[in-house]
Amino acid sequence: MQYVLVFNSGSSSFKFSLFPIDSASPVINGLAENLSTPEASMKIVSTESGTHRFDLDGGHKEAIAALVEKLPEFNLAFEDVAVVGHRVVHGGETFSQSVMVNEHVLEDIEKCNSLAPLHNPANLLGINVLSELYPSLPQVAVFDTAFHQTLPEKAYLYAIPYQLYREQGVRRYGFHGTSHRYVSEEAIQRLGLVAGDNQLLIAHMGNGCSATAVRDGQSVDTTMGLTPLEGLVMGTRSGDVDPSLHQFLQNNLGWSLQKITDVLNRESGLLGISELSNDMRTLIQASEEGHKGAKLAIEVFCFRLARQLAALSASLNRIDALIFTGGIGENNAAIRRKVMQQMSLFGFKVDAELNEQHGKSTNGRITMETSTCAMVIPTDEEAMIARDARRLLEENNA
Ligand code: ADP
Repeated sequence: MQYVLVFNSGSSSFKFSLFPIDSASPVINGLAENLSTPEASMKIVSTESGTHRFDLDGGHKEAIAALVEKLPEFNLAFEDVAVVGHRVVHGGETFSQSVMVNEHVLEDIEKCNSLAPLHNPANLLGINVLSELYPSLPQVAVFDTAFHQTLPEKAYLYAIPYQLYREQGVRRYGFHGTSHRYVSEEAIQRLGLVAGDNQLLIAHMGNGCSATAVRDGQSVDTTMGLTPLEGLVMGTRSGDVDPSLHQFLQNNLGWSLQKITDVLNRESGLLGISELSNDMRTLIQASEEGHKGAKLAIEVFCFRLARQLAALSASLNRIDALIFTGGIGENNAAIRRKVMQQMSLFGFKVDAELNEQHGKSTNGRITMETSTCAMVIPTDEEAMIARDARRLLEENNA
């Protein structure tokens, strides 16, 4: 049996999953964290034998070697890995689809580093360590931004001096592309829509949140921008604010650019408004117990999502379905109901029972037959990366 290794490398951690080459479900997945510190450790979750944890010594390279050594305990062997699929955050304007990694591709990914200075170098580290250890193992890069490369100019340009786009690449790129692509393909299939004629709104609501308008299978507008900070209210990210906020905070509080950026990324969103938590489960519970901040954070979160979905609909002339996905979108009926109620103009009529069951009995549908369709579709970015890696390997071998 051959396998696809899906690899998501951070600067001090990596996540991985091992998929049989012909399957959409991994046999093991896991996480190595606190790498290159005394607390380095790895967790492996096996579908057969549950969760295993152990300490590590060293960085990415040592952790991969430890994983390779552990695999026989799960009746697996690293020699059976046929291809590795890597999540890469930023592909700039260079990558509009997943690619087989070669020297040229590595150079081009590196050129995108300035657009994602925290993430891309960490993603590259994973690719480089694996190619150092296993030089002949095929590797595929799957970009978070690639799906949104079909955005038209009018949707991706900011109204700032054009030179900043031309010379610095300042534009909307969009993120969560692998999730939006997976969910839109799944929706098109479930609804029996034609590949070249479909119109969808997708709300991906996890810790990070973004929404996308999809037309004829292509992303035509999305809420995240040059960075993942733009758009919706998220766990700890503010989403849209007035661009003059920076000046105001500097004038009135003497905050540095770095401080403001940190506050907008790490202390804002649901956490910032609620003054309690970035976690929606905690907020729902607190709100039910009367916590005013939690209630307010949920109100703002839902309103802003509805408002952005309405804005995205400017790129469509009908709505085949609104799809909810991500941890919040997949699991929280109350949030979905609030968003759809806010959008009553669009003809959403929630079926309370179907919504409570997350559309399990109706292939995802949570609205009445007479309503504009809304669905819950669980996302699966790892399965999508595995699918791309498998496809590119086949094309490469053909
Ligand atoms: P990530 O973006 O890190 O992949 P997830 O997609 O797992 O995150 O989403 C995390 C969010 O989903 C958290 O706010 C969490 O509270 C929320 N969530 C997960 N399960 C539920 C649930 N049953 N009800 C409400 N929110 C949930």
